[in-house]
Amino acid sequence: MISRQNQALDAGATSARGWAPPCEHLDGLVPVTLQSACCRGCQAGDDRRATLLTCLTCGWVACSDGSPNQHAKTHYEETGHPLAAPVAPGPRWRWCYAHQRLV
Ligand SMILES: [Zn+2]
Ligand SMILES: [Zn+2]
Ligand SMILES: [Zn+2]
Repeated sequence: MISRQNQALDAGATSARGWAPPCEHLDGLVPVTLQSACCRGCQAGDDRRATLLTCLTCGWVACSDGSPNQHAKTHYEETGHPLAAPVAPGPRWRWCYAHQRLV
């Protein structure tokens, strides 16, 4: 759970917090096109209640770790692509599977 106060801090100086090294996986990212509108690993409908993430390396769309199938994690394990971000409009965040934290 991210409090409003922390969100305000994030909007300011993300790199100035100093508690963790920056994620080098963010370097050299280029915009990707989503490869699909729903999880590419789930059967139709399986991902209806899942948060959908897109791989920031290749645009693969998969269900998040909060879903039963966790296809985004599977994609990382199969490809080594470390970064995922939510597909839906709303709060912007990125998860790095290599660093195991938000980046
Ligand atoms: Zn990283
Ligand atoms: Zn899935
Ligand atoms: Zn990928």
